[in-house]
Amino acid sequence: MNELKKSFYDRVLKIRDVDEDLVDELSKMKLAVVGLGGLGADISAALVKNGFRYFKLIDPDILLYTDVYRGVNFKSDDTGYFKVEVVKKILERLASDVEVIIYPQTLTDFNIDRLFRDVDLVIDATDNIYSKALINRYSVSRDIPVIYTAVKDNKGVIIFLEPDKTACFECFHPDIEDVDDGYINGYGFQYIYSIVYSIASSEVTSYFLGYDPKLHGSMVRVSPNLDIEINYLSKNPQCRICSSKAAVEYPDFDYQYFLKGDTFIYTSDERVRLDIERLSRELAKKHILFRRGDAGVFFEYYGNIRVGVSYSGTVVVIGVTGFDEGVSTTRRLVEDMLYQFVID
Ligand SMILES: [Zn+2]
Repeated sequence: MNELKKSFYDRVLKIRDVDEDLVDELSKMKLAVVGLGGLGADISAALVKNGFRYFKLIDPDILLYTDVYRGVNFKSDDTGYFKVEVVKKILERLASDVEVIIYPQTLTDFNIDRLFRDVDLVIDATDNIYSKALINRYSVSRDIPVIYTAVKDNKGVIIFLEPDKTACFECFHPDIEDVDDGYINGYGFQYIYSIVYSIASSEVTSYFLGYDPKLHGSMVRVSPNLDIEINYLSKNPQCRICSSKAAVEYPDFDYQYFLKGDTFIYTSDERVRLDIERLSRELAKKHILFRRGDAGVFFEYYGNIRVGVSYSGTVVVIGVTGFDEGVSTTRRLVEDMLYQFVID
């Protein structure tokens, strides 16, 4: 460990029995964070402070005003930017040597291998059961530990699982395909989010420092008044995901087009690149550009519809009445406007 780092972690290195080399190793671990709302953002920020330096951030969505209170590090004027871009800036402010790669796109069955192939641990902070199942199935097939987090109805959940050593996510959620509404509402006070991010970041750090992470293989439920329930999750010997090492079949869900509340999200399946610079000039000329960031643009389309477009071809349409309006609006956007900005 170099002198600068030694002085940064002075109070850590003085802890009795702490291994300096292991603290140094944290910076070499590659973490993927899926879902960059309040939870994903603050878990990542806490991990930077604990010594991690390499992050892949994956989320197709735009940060809205209603998201701001949940993340300790979010500010009102971060709204309208892609969440991955907002969090990248937060992490870069926390440590100058952090390496953050952003993916303003949905995690799908066609990009998961490319995104997770080289990571040491995945942090799931997504808001739906399908993404958790997708992550679980990949993690089982490639032996990657995952920490799952969520907030629902002012309760927090943290589950830390590792293939072979613990149950898998589907040992106790065995019928993913039968779930009708797989969304986790995210309703909760900020303090519930803070408790979840604290526990999750402590587990991840303990794991890499070689401490026995207390919650490894367990589900922790946190309710208001610090009512904490910890249940060990047994491996289900009949689990169709982890009991055999059969080829992975991903959950039957369309990750490429989906509706979440009044937001419709489309992720391009090819490695499309859009000329965001030129697109933003065009939108500014029409006086409809709201934000231009490194990851993309956010603008008013018509009526109450607002649209985010990333350089990688993700289209986020906010304010639609349903799936069909999401599809038709996205199609119109691509045909009337976006195709002109594709870089060959
Ligand atoms: Zn299982």
